[in-house]
Amino acid sequence: MNDILQSLFPNSSSTPPPLFTEGSYWRDLVALHGRLVTIDDVAPLQLCGKIRMKLMEEEAVLTDSREDGHFFFQTRAIVGRGYLTLDEEGKVKTFFTYAYEIQSANTEIPPTPTSIGMGLSGDAFRLSLPPNGTSQVMHNVVIVGAGQAGLSLSARLKKAGIEGVLVVDKNSRVGDNWRHRYDSLHLHDPRNACSMPFTPMPDHYPKFVHKDDVADYLESYAQELSLPVQLNTSVLPNGATFDDTSQLWTINVSRASSEPYVLTSRHLVIAIGLSGFPRRPAFAGADKFTGKILHSSDFTGLESPPNNVVVVGSNTSAHDIAQALFEKGANVTMVQRSHTTVISLDSHAGLLMEAFNGGGPTASASPEANESISPEDLLDLEIAAFHSNTYNRLAELR
Ligand SMILES: Cc1cc2nc3c(=O)[nH]c(=O)nc-3n(C[C@H](O)[C@H](O)[C@H](O)COP(=O)(O)OP(=O)(O)OC[C@H]3O[C@@H](n4cnc5c(N)ncnc54)[C@H](O)[C@@H]3O)c2cc1C
Repeated sequence: MNDILQSLFPNSSSTPPPLFTEGSYWRDLVALHGRLVTIDDVAPLQLCGKIRMKLMEEEAVLTDSREDGHFFFQTRAIVGRGYLTLDEEGKVKTFFTYAYEIQSANTEIPPTPTSIGMGLSGDAFRLSLPPNGTSQVMHNVVIVGAGQAGLSLSARLKKAGIEGVLVVDKNSRVGDNWRHRYDSLHLHDPRNACSMPFTPMPDHYPKFVHKDDVADYLESYAQELSLPVQLNTSVLPNGATFDDTSQLWTINVSRASSEPYVLTSRHLVIAIGLSGFPRRPAFAGADKFTGKILHSSDFTGLESPPNNVVVVGSNTSAHDIAQALFEKGANVTMVQRSHTTVISLDSHAGLLMEAFNGGGPTASASPEANESISPEDLLDLEIAAFHSNTYNRLAELR
């Protein structure tokens, strides 16, 4: 493995190109492409060439490698980690790289393009106020969405000393995306697995935190870390365009309380979540149905539910909602399309969450946040505990 890595990385002495197997692929999480990329369906030699070229372009340096396939590297922008696997003939089957840390501070911020003619200093500033009352505001990074992803990224950028960051959210309070969910909702994962970087959830929170407490935690997180969040601000669908010449994003923003305006930014991060968009399938005969049809995102709890309720789906929201209705006296039927893996909370806590339990790392674990955990240990916990063992053991439980 070491020889293969040595020959791939540009800082190593050149040896014959490594052999990739047919059907091998490279998965890169932000480390070398700045986004999520999977390269497959190319000839093994071509894949090897692509990896070498990208590593060279990004001036990647191999800092450590292990016989078990784990390796560590750095580029100008990030500290990265990787993992490769071989087939029985010793050819590379999978090549995985991911960004673990942003390299420190402001040296990574490129100079302001001369066409704009202004430098960045701290917070956003106004470029001009066009006559129609709209205005253009210039930023270094605009993050759309102040949920867990947007807030934790903002906190990490702040910690890295990167200025000119703005987080926008359409809601009027940080945490509203949780406050507006159904009343009975508690986190399905234990508290210590849901904490954010630098400031964990308070110790007095119970193991499975109520959604309103999650909301308050997110709000106080943004306040405590003084994150630059602008609320009541929506980015419209197709509202952002990138200009190749100036290398800037133009982002059209609507606010309830003012005229629409334009944000300009070097970087744009979309952190609007995976579960924020209700999908309402069309059911034959739905127009003739005289009862109420609700999507789970519209369900907040019913004081007096109807006698008979059908819940379509059998995942976590469906179970929560079915239970809440049952407790209010409804006769509930759950409809499920395919198999569901049902595991007890104990198994869940013991297997899926084992890396976070018993004084293990929290989501904030990083060498600076918890010096007792080395990056190597973390890597072992993340990859070995989650990817190799956990799912095999879960499968055995079925
Ligand atoms: C019922 C339910 C239970 C869950 N339970 C758990 C659990 O127990 N544990 C767990 O870890 N996860 C749980 N999740 C998943 C969890 O909600 C998501 O993983 C997490 O919220 C994702 O964070 P995010 O920051 O990516 O997105 P979100 O939290 O969805 O945040 C996205 C933000 O973007 C904003 N936004 C969206 N569009 C725009 C726009 N156009 N302009 C401006 N702002 C915009 C939204 O207002 C929102 O604040 C649950 C989800 C649901 C629905």
